Amino acid sequence: QAKAAGRNAVSFFDPIMQAAVTARARLHSDLRQAIRGGQFELHYQVQVDAQRRPAGAEALVRWRHPEKGLIHPGGFIDLAEETGLIVPLGHWVLATGCRQLALWARHPATAHLRLAVNVSARQFRQPSFADEVRALLEQTGAPADRLKLELTESSLIEDTEAVIERMETLRALGIRFALDDFGTGYSSLAYLKRLPLAQLKIDQSFVRDLMSDPNDASIVRTILALGDSLGLAVIAEGVETEAQYAFLAAHGCRAYQGYLFGQPVALDVFEAGLAASDG
Ligand code: C2E
Ligand code: MG
Ligand code: MG
Ligand code: MG
Repeated sequence: QAKAAGRNAVSFFDPIMQAAVTARARLHSDLRQAIRGGQFELHYQVQVDAQRRPAGAEALVRWRHPEKGLIHPGGFIDLAEETGLIVPLGHWVLATGCRQLALWARHPATAHLRLAVNVSARQFRQPSFADEVRALLEQTGAPADRLKLELTESSLIEDTEAVIERMETLRALGIRFALDDFGTGYSSLAYLKRLPLAQLKIDQSFVRDLMSDPNDASIVRTILALGDSLGLAVIAEGVETEAQYAFLAAHGCRAYQGYLFGQPVALDVFEAGLAASDG
């Protein structure tokens, strides 16, 4: 007990700890400010089909910080989640994504594109989530059947019945669900079978060392076989090399995302890339 108190007393006055607490508080107030001030932008990373043709994109949020420049989600998503700011931020991401989807739908060259949007656990658990998505679809005119929501297993482990019901409500509108970072969580196969999912997304950590680590190679093969037997599409993320692509294709993968096909880029660069791939 005395030892614990002593440790607390030391860390309380620890200047490094103190600096970390101050930096976090600063980031928190910057983040709140950024949501009000419209400092976020979406970048788009192409997702390709079995013929390596663009089938859609994943929207990835970036923060254009006035002093620090472009910040990737690793620098603020956890804090946004902890503080609840992910709810307004996630709403902005969905609204922006739906507006983009509606624009693509109006042009024959882009009408086939699907957009995948990441939804955080806390955002998905808001009781109003399904109503908000429905309202955004109506306001923007985005085609629901082109919208894919990426959830992680952490969104799905609590309150199973409510989660399934919410997913069913959205699926009835035409929305699809992908399970992001698949293989890194703890959901049981029995549970997986009950969820109205359309796609499993093989986590990039398994793709990275696919060619050198036999365990990763068997995990990837197993996920592809699992998707096949559950009737779920599978997309591999983090594909960086032709060798990884060839392995995945040989084992039945039909959809891919990764630097081999394109980095996440600003909208104009993404659209220029589409035009180029049209020949
Ligand atoms: P994620 O959804 O699994 O997204 C994939 C991440 O892998 C992205 O990082 C992407 O830039 C990166 N990536 C794509 N291809 C490759 C590749 O070939 N090699 C490597 N090494 N990396 C690749 P990013 O953009 O930094 O996003 C990180 C995470 O932040 C995302 O992981 C997602 O969980 C979260 N995130 C991003 N945008 C949003 C958002 O709008 N809302 C929420 N809730 N989370 C988001
Ligand atoms: Mg994702
Ligand atoms: Mg992922
Ligand atoms: Mg990830």
